[in-house]
Amino acid sequence: MPSEVPPNLPKGFSIDDFKHIRELRAARVLQEITPEALNAVAGTIPVFCSDGDRAWDIFSHHAETCSKANYPVRPHIIAFPGAPLLLSEDSPKLLGMNTDELFIYGIGTGQKLKSITTVVLVPHWPCGMARQLGISLTRSLALCFGGKKRIKKLVGIETVVVCLHVDYGKNKHDNDVMKTYYVNREQWVLLAAAKYADWSAAPEPKI
Ligand SMILES: [Zn+2]
Repeated sequence: MPSEVPPNLPKGFSIDDFKHIRELRAARVLQEITPEALNAVAGTIPVFCSDGDRAWDIFSHHAETCSKANYPVRPHIIAFPGAPLLLSEDSPKLLGMNTDELFIYGIGTGQKLKSITTVVLVPHWPCGMARQLGISLTRSLALCFGGKKRIKKLVGIETVVVCLHVDYGKNKHDNDVMKTYYVNREQWVLLAAAKYADWSAAPEPKI
C-alpha cells in the first residue's frame, strides 16, 4: 500500500479509512494471499461486487492468484452490487427480498454442480453499494465473516476465504493503484480485542 496518504483517494474513501487500512496492515490483518490460504484444489466460487471500475481488477487478480498457485482457474462467479456484504444473517435485505438466501443458493450450485469446495468473498473499498447501504469498511469485513459462518453452516463448504480489494486512486503517473489483500480473521479478532470493546466501537468512515 502507499506509505503516505495517496493524493487522489476515490470518492467514499476518507483519510480515516486510509489510516484504518494502514492499521490493519500493520497488525497483519491484511496480508498477501498464499496458496495455502486459498486452498482451491477444485477451483473457486468468487463472490464480488459488480462495480464496473473495479470488478475487472478484482476478477483478474483472483484468476492470476489461482493460476500462480497452480490451482484450476474455473471461477463459478457470483457477482452483484455489494454481493459479499449480503450473505450474513444481519445483512441488509434488498427490496424486501431474501437476497442473502438467493446468493447462498447460487454458492450452493457451485458446490453441487461443479464440485467446487472453496468460496472467496472479496468486498472492496470504496464501494458505492456499501455507501448506499450505510456500511463502513469495518462493518464490511464483519458482514463477510458473518457470511463465511453462514456459508459453512448452510452449504457445508469448509474453505471460505475473505479478501479485501482496495482502490487507492490514481498515482502521480495517472495510473490506478489497486490492491487485493487476504483478511486474516484471527489477527482481526486479536486487534479488535486489543483496541476496541468490539468492532462496532471502531472508527467509522466519513461518508
Ligand atoms: Zn461495490
